Amino acid sequence: MSGINVYAHYTCEGEYPDLDYAGAAERLAQAISCRTIDRGESTDEAPFERLHALVRSSYPHVMAAADVEEVGRSLLITCPGTDPSLPCALLLAHQDVVPVAPGTESAWRHGAFAGHLDESHVWGRGALDIKDMLMGELEALEYLLARGDRPRRTVILAFGADEETASTGATRLAAILEGRGVRAAWLLDEGTTTMIDGAVWGAPGCVLADVCVSQKGYLDLRLDARGEGGHSSNPFGGTSLERLCTAVARIAEARPAPSLTPIVRDTFRALAPHVAEEPLRTLVKDVDANADAIAGLAAARRELHPFVMTTMAVDMLEGGSAAPNVMPGDASATVNFRLLPGTTADDVLAWVEGALGGTGVTATLLHATPAGRVDSAGKAGYAEVAEALTHFYRDVEVVPSFVCGGTDAIRYEAVCDSILRVIPFRPTPEEVATGVHGVDERISRRTYAQGIRVLVRLLEKTVL
Ligand SMILES: [Zn+2]
Repeated sequence: MSGINVYAHYTCEGEYPDLDYAGAAERLAQAISCRTIDRGESTDEAPFERLHALVRSSYPHVMAAADVEEVGRSLLITCPGTDPSLPCALLLAHQDVVPVAPGTESAWRHGAFAGHLDESHVWGRGALDIKDMLMGELEALEYLLARGDRPRRTVILAFGADEETASTGATRLAAILEGRGVRAAWLLDEGTTTMIDGAVWGAPGCVLADVCVSQKGYLDLRLDARGEGGHSSNPFGGTSLERLCTAVARIAEARPAPSLTPIVRDTFRALAPHVAEEPLRTLVKDVDANADAIAGLAAARRELHPFVMTTMAVDMLEGGSAAPNVMPGDASATVNFRLLPGTTADDVLAWVEGALGGTGVTATLLHATPAGRVDSAGKAGYAEVAEALTHFYRDVEVVPSFVCGGTDAIRYEAVCDSILRVIPFRPTPEEVATGVHGVDERISRRTYAQGIRVLVRLLEKTVL
C-alpha cells in the first residue's frame, strides 16, 4: 500500500473560516444513517425519503433558490443562474450505497448505519462512496448562496439512486435534461478516491491526483460447450470441459497487444518531467514515437496493466462432472472484459469469435456497457478543477486518466461535452483500501472540510 501522508499535502485549510464545518459533519452523519440500499423492485423506500427530507431541511438557501424534483427515488436540483445563455455546471453523486457484506457486521467499530460521529471522523457506509460528495456539493452551494452570491451559471445537482446496481436513475435524469435542451459546460462525478504514488508511473517522489476523462467499458460473455456425458473411457473429440478450456486458452492467447490510448499518452506527457526511472524516463521524452514500448512496460506492471489493456477475467465455470469416470454434460464459462476507451464490444466479439473457430464453443453476450467517450484535459472545466485541487493540495501533480470501473457519468454524454470524474476529498490510502465497499468506512472531519473547500472554490471560479 502506498505510504503517502495525504495530510502533508493539505494546505490553505484556513480558507472559508465562516463555513459551518461542524454542522456539515453532523449533516453527513445523518445522511449516512439513511440506509439507502437499492434492491430493485424490493427497495426499502423509507431511507431514501428520509434522505430527501434531510436534504430539504438542511440547505435552506439552496431550497429557496432551486427547483427540487423527485424523479422516482432520484433527485434533480436546479439552481437557475442569472445568465440563462451560459451552459450549466452539473454536479453528480449517487444516494445509494452498497450493503454491508454478510458476516462483516460485527467487524465494524461503529454500526455501518449508526451515523456515528467522533472527534476525528464521520463513520459509516457511504462516508467515502459517496455521500461525502453528495452532501459536500450541497454544503458548497449553500455556503455561496448564504453569503449572498448569485451564480451566473445554472448549477444542477443530479443524484441518482441506483449507481451501484442498474444506473437507471441517472439514465432517466439525463433523458429529462436532454429533453429540456439543457447543456452542461462540464460535469463533475466520482473518480479516484485518493492520491497516487508517482512511483507506479515511474515518477518516484511525485504524488498524483488524477482527473478522469473517460471510463472503461464493461462486457460479460458466456462461453458454452455442449457435452453428451457418458463413460469417460472414450472421450473422443474431448469432453465439453476440455473444449471449453481450450477455447479460454485460445482467447487469452489472442488478446490484443497492450496499447497506449490518447488519455494515457497524456498522462505520461504530463508526468514526463518527473519520470526518473529508466528506460521509461527516456521513452516518455517522445511518447508517440515510443508508444508501443511504453505500453509494453506498463502492461507488465500490476498497477498500470488495466490502463493499457482491455482485460479479460475468467470468473465463473459451470458444468463439471460429479465423478472422475463420468464425462461432463454442457459446460460454460463466464468471462468479464473491461474495455479500454476506444474499444467497442464488437471489437471484443471479433477477438473472441476469431479465437473460438474450430472449438465448437459458442459465445453469448450477457451484458455490455460501452466505454466512456474520450474527453481530455483541454476541455471545459478541467483546468478549473485542477486549479481547485492544487490550491488545497500542495505538491500534487494533476494528471488526466480514466476510471477502470463505471460511474453514472457516462449516462450524461448527450448533455455534456466534458465529463470529469474526480473526487474533491483526499482521504488516506488506508481509509480507502479498507472502507470503500469494505469495513469501517469513514471520512475524517479534516478530509471532509478540505473537500468542501475544493468544491466552493471550483464553484466560485466557474459559476459566479
Ligand atoms: Zn460510488
